[in-house]
Amino acid sequence: MAKHTITLIPGDGIGLETSAAMQQVVAATGVDIEWETAEAGAACIEKYGTPLPEQTVEAVRRNKVAIKGPITTPVGSGFRSVNVALRKTLELYVCLRPVLSIPGAGGRYEDVDLVIVRENSEDLYAGIEFEKDSEGAQRLIQFCEDEGAGTIRPDSGISIKPISETASENIVRYAFDYAVKHGRKKVTAAHKANIMKHSDGLFLQTARKVAKEYEGQVEFNDNIIDAFCMNLVMNPDWFDVIVFPNLYGDIASDLCAGLCGGLGIAPGANIGKEYAVFEAVHGSAPDIAGKNLANPTAQILSAAMMLDHIGELEAAALIRQGVRNVYADGTNLTADIRRATNSDAPAVSCTDFTQALVDEIERLRA
Ligand code: ATP
Repeated sequence: MAKHTITLIPGDGIGLETSAAMQQVVAATGVDIEWETAEAGAACIEKYGTPLPEQTVEAVRRNKVAIKGPITTPVGSGFRSVNVALRKTLELYVCLRPVLSIPGAGGRYEDVDLVIVRENSEDLYAGIEFEKDSEGAQRLIQFCEDEGAGTIRPDSGISIKPISETASENIVRYAFDYAVKHGRKKVTAAHKANIMKHSDGLFLQTARKVAKEYEGQVEFNDNIIDAFCMNLVMNPDWFDVIVFPNLYGDIASDLCAGLCGGLGIAPGANIGKEYAVFEAVHGSAPDIAGKNLANPTAQILSAAMMLDHIGELEAAALIRQGVRNVYADGTNLTADIRRATNSDAPAVSCTDFTQALVDEIERLRA
């Protein structure tokens, strides 16, 4: 029997290519993993009537750990995003995204080292929405008027932004515990509490309360999200662990990926008290899907996070060292990285990059 059984949801779009690359690289480390493949995405709708079949959720529950490729959210199909559904069903309340420069990847800085901790369950992502002209929208508009809360134009669509004390406390506590566990010095809370007093304001108030428990151990400060964006771009070294409500965390994740060389290299994980699902920050990139052009680094580095999570620290370290070496060498880099580095050197395919990384890991192991 394999030492670990991990659920693999290959996803769609470039997910099929990046998932295959990831499996090949993980195998090169020699770690003993059995992959249990599970389906999700648009292709499942016809087959099972849902993009997230129950047996896929069950497979994650059984193995506790999964890695997934990106899954396209079919626009206008009436189905909600599989990614969001998985996070909700499995109560994966933390979205963890380490942001670390890889020299040679074309980042604006060569020494970014910070960690994004994004709340994963509420905020504008709660999916509580009212369509323009619907009865719900009209009643809500009337309610706000009656309460003296404000006037909303009658032809508005409305999305609700709930932020609870419970979820805020959970996410901020995770950020502080992560900082303690990983020897990080500071936690910054990013928000817009000056404008959204009862949602972001509650998040900030809760963050300040939790921070008190870690006084003397981990430093705490807060940044208004717009100022945060400027500070991040100008001085990424001001930050260490940053904790966000859902939407700002989503936007900041891509911003941070951009600082380091782009979406092709940005890994992530969705973590709950019982289960963890690892996945790249990027989406399914339909423009390059099936063309062997995708950069699989983000999913490969997500696998390194997964290996850390299951205690395979050596295999995780091998992958990270291998990635650094392939980028430092610079011969076998994909098109996104050539663009990010303004390089005329020929780009290699997803499969050639993967082979170069496998060769490098095998060389490191020899
Ligand atoms: P989502 O809304 O799910 O995040 P999206 O279409 O907004 O998806 P992505 O799919 O993440 O955004 O990517 C945007 C673009 O970045 C892609 O169309 C593609 O050109 C590029 N890109 C993303 N990921 C990669 C990758 N791994 N390798 C190469 N290019 C990528």
